[in-house]
Amino acid sequence: MDMQQKLTILTDSAKYDVACTSSGVDRAGKKGVMGNTTAAGICHSFAADGRCIALLKVLMSNYCVYDCGYCINRRSNDVPRAAFTPHELAELTIGFYRRNYIEGLFLSSGVLRNPDYTMEQMCEVLRLLREEYRFGGYIHAKTIPGASPELVSRLGMLADRISVNLELPSEESLKRLCPDKPKKNILAPMGQIRDTLAENSRELTVYRKAPAFAPAGQSTQMIIGATPDTDLQIVRLAEGLYRKYSLKRVFYSAYIPLGTHALLPKNQPVPLLREHRLYQADWLMRVYGFAASEILSEKNPHLDPMLDPKCNWAVHNLQLFPVEIRTADQEQLMRVPGIGFIGAKKIIIARRNGQLSYEDLRKMGIVLKRAAYFITSWGKAMPGIRFTPEFIYRGLTAETRRSERGLPFAPQAEQLSLFGAPSLPMLEEGKTWTTA
Ligand code: SF4
Repeated sequence: MDMQQKLTILTDSAKYDVACTSSGVDRAGKKGVMGNTTAAGICHSFAADGRCIALLKVLMSNYCVYDCGYCINRRSNDVPRAAFTPHELAELTIGFYRRNYIEGLFLSSGVLRNPDYTMEQMCEVLRLLREEYRFGGYIHAKTIPGASPELVSRLGMLADRISVNLELPSEESLKRLCPDKPKKNILAPMGQIRDTLAENSRELTVYRKAPAFAPAGQSTQMIIGATPDTDLQIVRLAEGLYRKYSLKRVFYSAYIPLGTHALLPKNQPVPLLREHRLYQADWLMRVYGFAASEILSEKNPHLDPMLDPKCNWAVHNLQLFPVEIRTADQEQLMRVPGIGFIGAKKIIIARRNGQLSYEDLRKMGIVLKRAAYFITSWGKAMPGIRFTPEFIYRGLTAETRRSERGLPFAPQAEQLSLFGAPSLPMLEEGKTWTTA
């Protein structure tokens, strides 16, 4: 099989991995070293500065001795198979880098022979890149559950970010769909990475030139909708992972029907909106300090497709609103839908200089179509706003209700495929996303 065929198979098999975003690593170019990373990150995504950055996202091999029910690369699935040798993959990566096609590498793999053998192959790719080719660009590598701790350590010394995929939200689902990957094989490397990161950060404060272990931290990925786990279970689990394993990110991947396992939903792609709502809830926990119990409850275990999680929290806690923008502290302001971290800071600075009108707030970038239902300025609501639950709910959901009539993000929005044409009626009719 030639390299072109291998590349086609192994990049296609890697497309279901979603753990790529801004890396958070900042490393300038050095004499004698090729490539660099920036704080904005080098991944297959958009950087914080809006720049689209690229990385080669590829599997070492899509042969796999495991048989995870939801995975296209499972042993029992009849798909074309291929594997790179470490030299081939390192050569390919550096060749793409030199041609300016990519700025880094995202490397994962099916389990070839056994977890240790696979990790040795992956470590060798990274060693060749770092030591032989002197490649200083961004590398994100997935660990293989069940691999020995020494190999996890070696991978972490060569990569910028490492991740261990949790795959499914509950132990029960893991047992049924991934019988070869017990939960302890996933959590043990996560714990090891957390401890090594902490130890490495202590070392770096003493010896500035100490080798860095996975400077962009660790992340994980969960498949959403392949099992009946609720959003509450998922959000609670993510909260626990952030707390216990100091993860940088939890990624959510809406299930695409690829498996034939009796426990998996048949031909029912999970709405992309669910994945989007989970990312919004995740953002609230990481950036705004919300607890999972504030976002969802046993009584209300699913995220509302009509309202984003912050609005949903606010409409269920109307006793805390409206807040007066002249006097509210930063924490109160940040809890108002439509006011973010920067918006709250701007309000606090601007109000020192006098009265703030709603027009001033709009000019500061406050999203009044949401915030207006939860604030007063000098004791007055924005003209036309009534603080009744029905009025607020109708106002906040107006946009989504409009979207149900043909704009994106409708609750029934489909999971788009990279390859097939979307089946949304509006696209079939030749309309555009901006059609009102
Ligand atoms: S270990 Fe499971 S999820 Fe990973 S490639 Fe193999 S079958 Fe797929």
